[in-house]
Amino acid sequence: MTAFSGITVFDSVSEDKLMSGTIELLACARKLADGFNEKVNCILFGEGLNKTLKEAVAFGADNVFVADDPLLKKYNPDVYSITLDRIVRQTAPRCIILGQTSTGADIAPRLAFKLGCDLVTDCVEINVNKETDSIIPIHPIYGGKIHAAFSPLGSQLVLTLRQKSIEPLERDDSRKGEIIPVKVNIDPALIRIKVVKKIKEETEGIRLENAPVVVSGGRGIGSKENFKHLKELAGILNGAVGGSRPATDNGWVPATSKVGLTGKIVAPNVYIAIGISGSSQHLAGCIGSKNIVAINNDPAANIFRVSRYGVVGDWEEILPGFTEKLRELNAL
Ligand SMILES: Cc1cc2nc3c(=O)[nH]c(=O)nc-3n(C[C@H](O)[C@H](O)[C@H](O)COP(=O)(O)OP(=O)(O)OC[C@H]3O[C@@H](n4cnc5c(N)ncnc54)[C@H](O)[C@@H]3O)c2cc1C
Repeated sequence: MTAFSGITVFDSVSEDKLMSGTIELLACARKLADGFNEKVNCILFGEGLNKTLKEAVAFGADNVFVADDPLLKKYNPDVYSITLDRIVRQTAPRCIILGQTSTGADIAPRLAFKLGCDLVTDCVEINVNKETDSIIPIHPIYGGKIHAAFSPLGSQLVLTLRQKSIEPLERDDSRKGEIIPVKVNIDPALIRIKVVKKIKEETEGIRLENAPVVVSGGRGIGSKENFKHLKELAGILNGAVGGSRPATDNGWVPATSKVGLTGKIVAPNVYIAIGISGSSQHLAGCIGSKNIVAINNDPAANIFRVSRYGVVGDWEEILPGFTEKLRELNAL
């Protein structure tokens, strides 16, 4: 038997609204906690939080620890990790789950170091092993070719979960939970990091991660100019434009539009891959899509192995007709 009990999720909140990623973390925590018959604690940082707290309960939390303080409005790794460490120590959970986001990925190792516990990042699945009374995180390795199941050595774990790895739970407003406010008193001498500037990511239209349809182009698109055809298609489908590494490296689309192992992870309803070969590094970022549609002139391209629909041919010949047909259907 471990001395630790319960599953904790952590996230920060910017506008008194639970993010879809936090709802997914709660779904994962609920699944694990039910497996051990334990509780889900949700730790939220932000300022002016109110309805978010009830939302966290409705989506699966038993206790919501809320640190509502102007100090937490902007991300500071020292302030966040010190506050988080203090709250986690009060509740001694067997596992703390953060999102595999820029903030989550930055705090998770700091927290694991402070707690002296095991860390597994970028999990795509987290399971319970009842026989060993332990948690088994699953993390893709070799560019997503293999999923490795880890057997943690210690009995407390910090994990980060990739977005869109789990379906959120249905909102249940009848769920009851406790809201526990936490004070943030930090000795200024402990804050060694000063955040000098925050640069907001420029996005045209819908964000890649939230888009229901993503139209991505690869080296086969050939130029920045040609991407206008993909933008047109994305516009008709209310989608976003992404790219493979060659497309972003060549500056055909912004670096923030890169899909893959070293880019964004997307899981839209439809992912249209045009002139993309389907390397394991690219697939790591889109394999969770509900439907992959590929246009490629090489019938042996790897992308066809994971596509629901595929068209073999030159995209310059196929795309205009495809776009026109969709425009007509959209107008009906
Ligand atoms: C550590 C590491 C991390 C990486 N991270 C990423 C990542 O995050 N994202 C990523 O995308 N890559 C990543 N890569 C690069 C990856 O290995 C591939 O090189 C890259 O994904 C290939 O991009 P592509 O499919 O656009 O190009 P290619 O592999 O060159 O494929 C181009 C495709 O276009 C087709 N084509 C050409 N002309 C046409 C035409 N006229 N009509 C239709 N089809 C056409 C070709 O048949 C071909 O299949 C990473 C690599 C490493 C080593």
